Order: sequence, then C-alpha cells, then structure tokens
Amino acid sequence: MKSVLIVGAGFAGAVLAERLASQAGIRSVVVDRRSHIGGNAHDHYDKAGVLIHSYGPHYFRTNAPRIREYLSQFTEWHEVEYQILSWAEGRYWQFPINLNTFEQLIGRASTPEEMEKTLAEWRVELDNPQNSEEVIVSQVGWKLYEMFFKNYTQKQWKRDPKELDASVCGRIPIRTNRDNRYLSEQFQALPKEGYTRMFERILDHPLIELRLNTDYRALAGRETYDHMIYTGAIDEYFDCCFGPLPYRSLRFEPETLEQEWFQPVMQVNYPNEEAFTRIVEIKHATGQKHPHTTIVREYPEDYGPGKEAYYPIPAPDAKALYERYRELAQKERKVSFVGRLATYRYYNMDQVIGMALAEFDRLMKVDNPPQPPLDGAG
Ligand code: FAD
Ligand code: UDP
Repeated sequence: MKSVLIVGAGFAGAVLAERLASQAGIRSVVVDRRSHIGGNAHDHYDKAGVLIHSYGPHYFRTNAPRIREYLSQFTEWHEVEYQILSWAEGRYWQFPINLNTFEQLIGRASTPEEMEKTLAEWRVELDNPQNSEEVIVSQVGWKLYEMFFKNYTQKQWKRDPKELDASVCGRIPIRTNRDNRYLSEQFQALPKEGYTRMFERILDHPLIELRLNTDYRALAGRETYDHMIYTGAIDEYFDCCFGPLPYRSLRFEPETLEQEWFQPVMQVNYPNEEAFTRIVEIKHATGQKHPHTTIVREYPEDYGPGKEAYYPIPAPDAKALYERYRELAQKERKVSFVGRLATYRYYNMDQVIGMALAEFDRLMKVDNPPQPPLDGAG
C-alpha cells in the first residue's frame, strides 16, 4: 500500500493519516467537505475572542492510557473536572443524580445509606433493563426519571426512551456519594490550546496532503489510490440503497454577552420546559480568561437536507438497517469504514481514536494482494 485516500479530517481520519505517515511511511490525501479540520471536535475563537466548541461541548475523557499517551504527542492538557447542573421545577439540581441531589430533594442532610435505602424503595425491580426507560427506573424509580430523563430524552431523540437502547441513558452515572463529576473516567481534560490546534499538529506531516472543501466524490475517476479510509456516513456511501439510516441533528445558537460569566457551571441541562436541551458556557471548562462570555443553546432537530447527521440513533430498528449496510461494507476489501458515522455507533472521541488505532494495526497486518487501483469514488 503506497497511497491512501482518507475521507474526513475528524479523529478517525486524522489519526489514521498520522499513523500511516509516521509509522509506515504511507502517503495520504485527507479530504473533508467542511472548510476546517477536526470534524465535530473542531473549536474556534468567535468574534468576541472566546474559544468555543463549534459543534457542541466536547469533554475529552478516557480510561485508556494508550489513548491519552497517543494524543499527548500532539498536545498538553488542561485538566478539568466536568460539572453540570440540571434545571427543573424552577431551580438548579446537582446532576448526575448523587447524594447532593437526594438532599436537595428531601430538603435536609442525609447519608449514602439513607439514599440507598430510599432508592431501593423507589426503584422498579428489573434484572436486565432492556431500554432507556428501564435502565433509569430500575436504578432510581419514576419520580427522578420523570424529573430529569424522560422529557430530555424525548426532546433529544424524538423517541420514547422505551424505544432507545439502555446504553443511551445508561451512560449517565447514578451515585450515592458526593462525586459531582459528570463523567467517571480516570482522565478528564481538554487539549490545552484547543482541539483545532491539536489536529493541526496531528496532520502536520510531509506525507499528509489536506484538501478542505472537497467531497471525495469529486475525485471520482480522476485520481486513484491503493486504499480508502472512509469516515463519513455509511448509508451515504452506498447511496442509501436500503433507505436512509435515522440520525438526529442539532441547531446551535451562540450568544455573546458583555459579562464575564452567565451560569454557575459549564453546562446546564433543561430537561422539561425549554425547546433546547442544554446551555453550554465552555469557558468554564477551557479555563480561558476573558471579560466576555459566549453561551450556546442546543436545539435538537430532525435530520434532513442541509442538516448534519450528529447522532446515530441507538435503537434496535436502526441497528437492523445498519447491519445490512455493514454486510455491504465488508465486501469492500479496499475500503476501511472507521469512526462514528461509518460504523453507526454513538461513540465518544476516545473510542473513535481507539478504533482508528486498531484499524491501523489491522491494515499493517493484512497482506494486501495486488488489486486494481481504487477509483476515488469508491
Ligand atoms: P466526525 O468528527 O464526524 O468526522 C467525519 C468527517 O468526515 C466530517 O468532518 C465530515 O465533514 C467528513 N465527511 C463526511 N462525508 C464526507 C464526504 N463525502 N467527503 C468529504 N468529507 C466527508 N465525544 C466525547 O468524547 N465527548 C463529548 O463530550 C462529546 N460531545 C459531543 C457532542 C456533540 C453535539 C456531538 C455531535 C458529538 C459529541 N462527541 C463527544 C462525539 C465526537 O464528536 C465523536 O466521537 C468524534 O468527533 C467522531 O469522530 P469521527 O472522525 O468518527 O467523525
Ligand atoms: N440524558 C437525560 N437527561 C440529562 C442528560 C442526559 O435524559 O439531563 C439522556 C439523554 O437521552 C441523552 C443521554 O442521556 O441523550 C446521554 O447524555 P449525554 O450528556 O452523554 O449526551 P451527549 O453529550 O452525547 O449529547
């Protein structure tokens, strides 16, 4: 393998380009139809000079030393314990649910033992929760489910939580101690100078050629490569031949305010009354010092023409349709499908990096038999 076309300059594409160049001396052309690198993890300084995450908050976290060490070649870290609150019944609540939330609910001091005993009374006995409603009511019962999860999930996914895999709501920790962190992974930090700067370093190699504002389909028939790494949506690759996969999209509404801070923490969730799901003030997490602040309201939207496919939908019907595309993808011997959209998985950044590193190892092991060069269009 001498030359590779990489579709997408997000984590999946950038990590593979870097590994191929630095470890195997393989040249790649990385194309992205957007005007920037970093995929959904891209960040930028807005007009006021506030560093914001362009496509929603990206809280880097991992339990895997290998992934942390890999990225540490390209960035230093700003360690941060991500904290959020939820706004319900006219007040802030500690979120995710923990002993502090429980004390707010009962209006007095309590203990882990009392909380555990009370939850044991509230929870619905279910051995093996099958969906996102069951996974929450089996831990905390109906009241807390309805306060914090039911409407947020309905709004975000436009589906009843019963129609979503247990993994969706199940990724939110529920604790009986005072750990206020949103996430539980060992390492929680942001790239010190931002994601975009880190991506610039990842892609900075003489064997990597970057072409922005370029859809890979525009290269069809004009250029040939030995292999292609595709990190876009899998159904789109196959012209939606089995029908489109479902996705959820978002609308981000930024607002800059001439004040230093807007809210007490980096993210406040609005499960119930509002049309948006959350307000993010990322300056709390980046640690940037600035007299002004920018907040971003996040509105869930249907996916369709002109909209980005931000979320694959973790649900049995969507998975069944994805399986049909996956079978087709397996037959494409000279194309690797890597990343969140190409494998239709609700994956975090560290998982996508792990997937890209694993694909690099696999490619290096494969004894690639000589085959006709791949058409740029795949
Ligand atoms: P992407 O970043 O989507 O990159 C794919 C790239 O391919 C895109 O830039 C796209 O333009 C390009 N592309 C697609 N089709 C074509 C084509 N035909 N031609 C050319 N280019 C093409 N993860 C976390 O770990 N922590 C978080 O807090 C977190 N928050 C998130 C919040 C939101 C709102 C979203 C949407 C995601 C969040 N994630 C988070 C997930 C994270 O964004 C992904 O795991 C990661 O960015 C996926 O990387 P990727 O390379 O697979 O895909
Ligand atoms: N969720 C919820 N209430 C909340 C936060 C999350 O019901 O206050 C559910 C919702 O279904 C959401 C999922 O848990 O989509 C995962 O939340 P997370 O914050 O991890 O979502 P992401 O940052 O990926 O959008």
